[in-house]
Amino acid sequence: MRVITGIKDMRSVSKEARMSGKTVGLVPTMGFLHEGHLSLIRAAAGECGFVAVSVFVNPTQFGEGEDLESYPRDLERDTGLAEEAGADVVFAPGVEEMYPDGAGTVVHAPPGLTGVLCGRSRPGHFTGVATVVLKLFNIVAPDRAYFGRKDAQQCAVVKRMVRDLDVPVEIKVMPVVREKDGLAMSSRNTYLSPEGRSTARAVHKALRKAEEMVCSGILSADEVKAGMYKILNKAEGLEVEYIEIVDPETMEARSDAGANALIAVAARVGGTRLIDNILVSSEQWMVSDRRRGVGNDE
Ligand code: AMP
Repeated sequence: MRVITGIKDMRSVSKEARMSGKTVGLVPTMGFLHEGHLSLIRAAAGECGFVAVSVFVNPTQFGEGEDLESYPRDLERDTGLAEEAGADVVFAPGVEEMYPDGAGTVVHAPPGLTGVLCGRSRPGHFTGVATVVLKLFNIVAPDRAYFGRKDAQQCAVVKRMVRDLDVPVEIKVMPVVREKDGLAMSSRNTYLSPEGRSTARAVHKALRKAEEMVCSGILSADEVKAGMYKILNKAEGLEVEYIEIVDPETMEARSDAGANALIAVAARVGGTRLIDNILVSSEQWMVSDRRRGVGNDE
């Protein structure tokens, strides 16, 4: 399994794959791979003839006082896991390779997308994300790129950038992969103490509560949020940063939690920031319709 650190090398290996008729898939990550990342790599390997996994802890998406220095890193382990999951190469450039003269030119997504939810507490974060993702797209030139819906706002920002800047790549958004008890997998979960790990389960519990409410026909965003706050406020040591119900493409607040509403949570447990979300499917909407007796003859 080849680990590439240079932009030129990455570009030529990717070009070679394309020239030989292979579809090129890219899975951008910050490394310390877990099942969430591996699900993206497997999906890419199932659909593309050549899969590049980037491992780059991108400094420009970290704010002051955030965990850039302490972010977990283990390239050797990542390489083995990526290979097992079906990757062809790992692209692991150094910071100097990606930003030889600092980060002079950047991509700003519209403030409507970036000034809410995570962007409110992490100013500049999505500019860092959009910029590094565009750089990766320009280096690898993938036909498809795979992202996790766990970072739903990131998905919205990337999709919007691709649309607005006519980047020729198809964005694939994959479901959230969770631990057995429901906690969304994250490289940052390693920061949690055993006690914090147990407290963190409340985030998923709150989302399950939201799901239950929606399925039983309670579609008012305020009511659903209140039900979720009840659970999260009971979790000692957990501080809610936000609960939002938004459109997954525009991040605009919705007054209802019906079909295609994104119900998103951010919370802190100890020093660890956790995010998670669920997307209300049209099936759930149909279930709630049925239970409320709307649009059917039950
Ligand atoms: P990261 O390394 O945290 O920047 O994540 C790299 C990619 O993996 C992003 O597209 C994330 O959304 C995705 N990802 C991270 N955690 C999960 C998860 N639990 N389930 C699905 N995708 C995930």
